Amino acid sequence: MPRPIVAIVGRPNVGKSTLFNRLAGSRIAIIEDKPGVTRDRLYHTCEWSGKVFTIVDTGGLEPDSKDELFQQMQRQTQVAIDTSDVIVFVVDGREGITPSDWQIADMLRKSNKPVILACNKVDNNKLRENSYEFYELGFEDVYMISAINGLGTGDLLDAIVKYLPDREEFVYEEDTIKVAVIGRPNAGKSSIINRVLGEERVIVSDMPGTTRDAIDTPFEVEGKKYVFIDTAGIRRKSRIDESIEYYSVLRALSAIERADVCLMVIDSYEGIAEQDAKIAGYAHEQGKGIIIVMNKWDKVEKNDRTMDEYKKIIRYRLDFIDYAPILFVSAKTGQRVQRIIETIDRVAAERSKRLATGVLNDMLNEVIATNPLPSIKGKPIKIYYGTQVSIKPPTFVFFSNYPDEIHFSYTRFLENQLRRLFGFEGTPLRIKFKKQG
Ligand code: GDP
Ligand code: GDP
Repeated sequence: MPRPIVAIVGRPNVGKSTLFNRLAGSRIAIIEDKPGVTRDRLYHTCEWSGKVFTIVDTGGLEPDSKDELFQQMQRQTQVAIDTSDVIVFVVDGREGITPSDWQIADMLRKSNKPVILACNKVDNNKLRENSYEFYELGFEDVYMISAINGLGTGDLLDAIVKYLPDREEFVYEEDTIKVAVIGRPNAGKSSIINRVLGEERVIVSDMPGTTRDAIDTPFEVEGKKYVFIDTAGIRRKSRIDESIEYYSVLRALSAIERADVCLMVIDSYEGIAEQDAKIAGYAHEQGKGIIIVMNKWDKVEKNDRTMDEYKKIIRYRLDFIDYAPILFVSAKTGQRVQRIIETIDRVAAERSKRLATGVLNDMLNEVIATNPLPSIKGKPIKIYYGTQVSIKPPTFVFFSNYPDEIHFSYTRFLENQLRRLFGFEGTPLRIKFKKQG
């Protein structure tokens, strides 16, 4: 299921981004607490009382230069209404109700979405006395909070969680390969999905069920089970304006989290954009299999070098996923679309591959013999032994006398050797070092 979205709205200066940072911050277990390409201040994944959701600071949406302040607020509020499951409406508890607050409140009341009113800047109990007038705005759930010192934010989170939709994640059979089709609007995601499903040997499963049918598309090919994840918004064009970049990114992120393999669909004619790189970076960090699908290949004028030139550019722009296979296809003509399923099979198998410990250590001994590690403070760094601890993605632990001193470039070198000898096409690898000796 897509992760529930909680939007923070309100006029400027009431403390939306302070609240966002507070909710994204220390008191909550942060799921994606990694520096990296996807670390955008606009949205953050949180967990509270065992529920996982994404908070969005709509105040951080890129302003449209044509908008007047009010129009901008209106637009941001509308985006929140269209895309979120719960809305936190922030007002300034010290200043009292302003005309802008009334305007936003009117829009929210008509929306039928659960709205929680947060009277912010109520930094101590004495200030609470002024805040009761805010009940006039007409919302039942009113919380006095201080985004700056955290007062009341636990209760606010309890209220948020209470309104989150109860979406149980449907668990597919163990051998089902879950595929997320990701990419920018208009790259051809729905055309690719329809092409694959339209092939003769594909049987679209008629699984009985309620909600999951609406969002995922299960199918079988020659007895093997697959499911395209979160296709609801892709297959029938959703009413939400896909040009709202953050929304399509949010959808993609939660689809990636549920997937085994991601099809990264790119319009060959348009090329790779910043957003593609961000999303690919997220799939990589999450340890998912990745296939780069260069679609609309029919539109590209080409000679016998074109494909190689494209590959070079892709490898340069997406250098952190140099292990991902690249397919040049056309959903329009059907060219090479049949290669998609076989590539998904291959990548899913590589991501589940397990190396025997003996084989891994034979490799290690050979590699270290020819490329010894440097010394640190006169003492040689040693890697004694390695083992593959898990799959999906393949994860290796190597034991060393100085695990913290092993340079990033040596890790990269080990990864390259693993790939050279054992393949692992299309899957990220994780390599860790632990202390021993
Ligand atoms: P936004 O425009 O709604 O995102 O508001 P900001 O988060 O940027 O905050 C606007 C101003 O209000 C900043 O100077 C904050 O430091 C201040 N502020 C935010 N939350 C609180 C709070 O709980 N108490 C007090 N006293 N000030 C706050
Ligand atoms: P989505 O927004 O990523 O799902 O993209 P769509 O599948 O809706 O495709 C967007 C547009 O590109 C539509 O007009 C499609 O007909 C067109 N399109 C999709 N795939 C191809 C292709 O391989 N070649 C060409 N020429 N057009 C394509």
